[in-house]
Amino acid sequence: MTSDDARDDVSSRLARVRDRIAAAETSAGRPVGSVRLLLATKTVPVELVRAALEADGLARAALDARGGEHGPVAPVVLGENRVQELVAKAPLLSGLSPELHLIGPLQSNKVAAACSWATCIESVDNLRLAGRLADRAVAFGRVLDVFIQVNVSGETTKHGVAPQHAVELAVQVAALTGLRLGGLMTVGANTPDQSAIRAGYTLLRELSEEIGRTAAAGTSGATELSMGMSRDLELAIAEGATIVRTGTAVFGSRPA
Ligand SMILES: *Cc1c(COP(=O)(O)O)cnc(C)c1O
Repeated sequence: MTSDDARDDVSSRLARVRDRIAAAETSAGRPVGSVRLLLATKTVPVELVRAALEADGLARAALDARGGEHGPVAPVVLGENRVQELVAKAPLLSGLSPELHLIGPLQSNKVAAACSWATCIESVDNLRLAGRLADRAVAFGRVLDVFIQVNVSGETTKHGVAPQHAVELAVQVAALTGLRLGGLMTVGANTPDQSAIRAGYTLLRELSEEIGRTAAAGTSGATELSMGMSRDLELAIAEGATIVRTGTAVFGSRPA
């Protein structure tokens, strides 16, 4: 199924995304290598994900070789939206990528499956779900990384806790045994209005700072900001993103 052309496309697009990230880091006055790249691999066949992981090794080596102020560039993180797809693909990919994040909504009946394969759940948006994840993690004898997903745009189609409840939820989640609160995640506003998108990313950064100021137990490590996608990663990096999530910019448009 996966043609050489498709592999070549993925590899050149990936190099281009790495360059976009480096340019955005530089113009934001941040060191190259400070933002991690998550590949959103929904609907992407495992073969093409493998091709992207190989291409990423080369793209990172090229960036590292530029030297100067550049820190080491971390390998890509993989992100799946649906637990079913995560469970199907993870066994084939977990040896190739140290991190597999769940970035889509999680139903309580899929918590066990998600815990078995995901290294981080970025989509925690209520305490009930967090409690179930914590119980499962404790039962597995592990600590699970979680992010709180915030609905910064307020669009009713989007998941995530409302911004005004985000700090309270973060403090509660951070206190749960079995979970490690890593930071916040959001999906930017679905609008061509750049300033509206950016305002959402500003808000996520401010919420993160507010969480830090609580100095509540378990919040000191909650410094990740997972925000920015293919079309707006520059805005997110300017606002302090530590992880940007790209799908189409690397894999091309998804089947409808
Ligand atoms: C698909 C997806 C992305 C990537 O979106 P692109 O526009 O393809 O870059 C990022 N985050 C989430 C939660 C997604 O579902």
